[in-house]
Amino acid sequence: MDLHHNLQATWDHVLKSYEPGVIEMAGVIMTQIIGFIVPATVYMLIDTLFPEFSNHHKIQGARRQPTRQQVLHCIKVSLFNQLWIVAIHSTLVWFTGLEHANLNLDPIVPPWREFIIDFAFGLLAREISFYYIHRALHHPRIYVYIHKMHHKYITPMAFSAEYAHPVEHILANVMPVTLPLYLKGAHILSIMTFVTFELWEAAADHSGYDFLKLPPAELHDLHHEKFRVNYGTIGLMDWLHGTDVVGWDKPEAKKAKEG
Ligand SMILES: [Zn+2]
Ligand SMILES: [Zn+2]
Repeated sequence: MDLHHNLQATWDHVLKSYEPGVIEMAGVIMTQIIGFIVPATVYMLIDTLFPEFSNHHKIQGARRQPTRQQVLHCIKVSLFNQLWIVAIHSTLVWFTGLEHANLNLDPIVPPWREFIIDFAFGLLAREISFYYIHRALHHPRIYVYIHKMHHKYITPMAFSAEYAHPVEHILANVMPVTLPLYLKGAHILSIMTFVTFELWEAAADHSGYDFLKLPPAELHDLHHEKFRVNYGTIGLMDWLHGTDVVGWDKPEAKKAKEG
């Protein structure tokens, strides 16, 4: 059974059955649900369903875990952030007319090679853009106004990935993930695949659990615990800038590093 052939047949059927604008809106909603809401819910349920496994794999100690009230507040804000992004996108599609889409809905499904190239390009573009935007958000002059909100949870949980000030949500969560592939003109299916992965990765990074080694949740978890370390997502930019060690900005640490 040829997977690509089946994907093409399904895509043909979708294009024949629905208007382009409807396909785009459904794609955006499906991506949020499959990439974020479902995995984040599963991560949150681990604590209730498998308490022993949960305690064994929590990165930070029981004393630092958020209260039930804090968890519910986090879920509420996170879902609201998802909702208004979908609402803005849907409104845009609605006003430009359902008979055409803003994303690339080419009838030919791109070959796997193109999916892989788009994925690698998206990953690199996200790492570079997110790193600098995130570091800028940590600038002492603006930190309290925007990024402090995301750092409310010193011990992160899956839903806290999207717990952010609206400005940060657009600048750091939405744009670095979606804009590079959109500007590249990537196929909607390729964008949906990449964004689904990135949303799941953000949930996993904030999950507070270490049982998956890829993505290494410890990197971003440490950022929430210690603030001035690991600003990127995959570790590449932190390695390049030397910001992957706690205390990189302290003169003694610099001296020790230099030998
Ligand atoms: Zn975070
Ligand atoms: Zn931060």
